[in-house]
Amino acid sequence: MLSIDLTGKRAFVAGVADDNGYGWAIVRALSAAGAKVCVGTWPPALKIFTKSLERGKLDTSRPGGGEIEIEKIYPLDAMFDTPEDVPEEVRADKRYAELTGYTIQELSDQMRADFGNGCLDILVHSLANGPEVQKLLVDTSRKGYLTALSASAYSLVSMVSRFGPLMNRGGSVLSLSYLAAARATPGYGGGMSSAKAALEGDTRTLALEAGYRWGLRVNTISAGPLASRAAKAIGIVEIMVDYYKANAPLRDVQTADDVGHVAAFLSSPLAAGISGMTVYVDKGYHAMGMAVGAHLPIEGRIS
Ligand code: NAD
Repeated sequence: MLSIDLTGKRAFVAGVADDNGYGWAIVRALSAAGAKVCVGTWPPALKIFTKSLERGKLDTSRPGGGEIEIEKIYPLDAMFDTPEDVPEEVRADKRYAELTGYTIQELSDQMRADFGNGCLDILVHSLANGPEVQKLLVDTSRKGYLTALSASAYSLVSMVSRFGPLMNRGGSVLSLSYLAAARATPGYGGGMSSAKAALEGDTRTLALEAGYRWGLRVNTISAGPLASRAAKAIGIVEIMVDYYKANAPLRDVQTADDVGHVAAFLSSPLAAGISGMTVYVDKGYHAMGMAVGAHLPIEGRIS
């Protein structure tokens, strides 16, 4: 039987702070396939995440049985590459003041110190931040736009650059994108559509460069809408979920596990020939060119 077997592999999933989002579903799936999993958590969310885990408030069940064990939780602020990049007001913020090592370079150094060179096989970037996401792109400030790009797209480049040397040949890098990268999507503003377009373009270029340099594969999953904590900041995610349910070829609501399972496949040797791809996991919605709408007699004709 062909199965996804990640025994003996170690993954780092960046962007996990609760059990509602895609990052957590990816942790569950990688763990169910046998990988050891470390996570990176944004400092403002770190305390509540670790407390919720300790108190058993998160769903730690693995698909197929057993419980997730997270090998280590690292603080990570993907806005910063090195300690010199951290502004004084962030250092002084009480959610950061007692932490060290949360920049991307320090985190990579810490993982090398914890587990040695060649300690990593799977890198997952499951984070995004766009402070002006509720504004139209045309009304977005330069600062808001560049922050969205920095947090949501450049952070992948920086992570590949700094984690690549730790990774074993044949390893996989994966990020999470959204259809607004390729199609105008109302409500996904503030430069977030631009950030996802950059992420998808960079996926192709990084696939070339990380493939040549370290023998790594780089892909992104373009996921359908999910009412995660981050997506609720968009303000209309429930409407997006309903719209997909009404208009995607597959009528079930998208689940986080739909994405987790594909992430496990793409991270596995079964996907050894796939790199530079944007893989849609959205119940087929990306294939549509026109909303189905109640007035089109498509259901009667198809069923
Ligand atoms: P989520 O809330 O589970 O994940 C987003 C994570 O990003 C959070 O844990 C947050 O703490 C973290 N984060 C924010 N700023 C950060 C920073 N500077 N440094 C480190 N971490 C930071 O929500 P999600 O919707 O599952 O998002 C995961 C990924 O999936 C994102 O890239 C998102 O754009 C993408 N995505 C989401 C949807 C959706 O509808 N939910 C659809 C397509 C793609």
